[in-house]
Amino acid sequence: MSEIANHESPHQASSSCGSSDRSDIKISRQAVIGSGVKALQQIGSAAICTICIGYGGSCCYGCRHLADGIGCRQRNTSCTAWLCGFLKLLLLETGLLEEWNDYWDQVPGQDFRKDFTPDEFFMNRPLRLPNLRRLSEALADDLKDLEDAHIANGFILTLREKIDKNIDLLEGYRGNAIKQNRMRKNIAILSSPFYRFQQELRDYRRSDPVR
Ligand code: SF4
Ligand code: SF4
Repeated sequence: MSEIANHESPHQASSSCGSSDRSDIKISRQAVIGSGVKALQQIGSAAICTICIGYGGSCCYGCRHLADGIGCRQRNTSCTAWLCGFLKLLLLETGLLEEWNDYWDQVPGQDFRKDFTPDEFFMNRPLRLPNLRRLSEALADDLKDLEDAHIANGFILTLREKIDKNIDLLEGYRGNAIKQNRMRKNIAILSSPFYRFQQELRDYRRSDPVR
C-alpha cells in the first residue's frame, strides 16, 4: 500500500491499448503508475483512506504484497487504477470519473492485485486532476462522524459498497435515461449524510461552473 490506497478488487479495465497512431506517445509502465499515484495525492485520497483503514476497511487486506510497516511492495497499474466507492463518488460528483476511467482504459494488462502491463506502451491521453483535498477531507470527516454515530461496526464500509455498486450501475446504464436517473437518486440518498462533503461540493461547483 502506498500512502494513498490499498485495493482489494481489481479495476478490470479491458484495454486493448498497445497500438499506436500519430498522436500516441510512448510511455513506461512506471510513469503511468507515477501519474496515478500523483493524481490520487492531488485529489486527497489519503484523508479518506486513513479513516477507512482505521475502521477496518483496507482494500489491501489479505494481500500477499502488503508488508507491515512498509505498505505495498508491488505497486501495479491495476491497484493504482482501481477506485473504491468513496473515491468513485469523489470523482463522479466533481465530473472527473470519466476522465479517470478513460485514462486507465488505455493501460493494458490490468488484473487482480497484479498486472501484465508491458514496460512500455502507447497512450494518447494524459491524466490531470485538480486539487480536491478540501472535498476529500470533508468526506473523511463525514465518514468518521457517521461511523462513530452508528453502533453497528462497519457502517461506512457497507455504505462504500452500496455507493460503489450504484455508480457502476450508473455507468453500465449509459443510454438508458430512466435507469440512470434511478441510480443518480440512489447515489444522492446514499451520500445525503455527507453534510460537509455536500457543502464543499456546492462551493467547488460554484467556483468551477463548467463541471
Ligand atoms: S478508502 Fe477506498 S482506496 Fe482507501 S483504503 Fe478504503 S477501500 Fe481502499
Ligand atoms: S498489490 Fe496488494 S498491497 Fe499492493 S496496492 Fe494492490 S492490494 Fe494493496
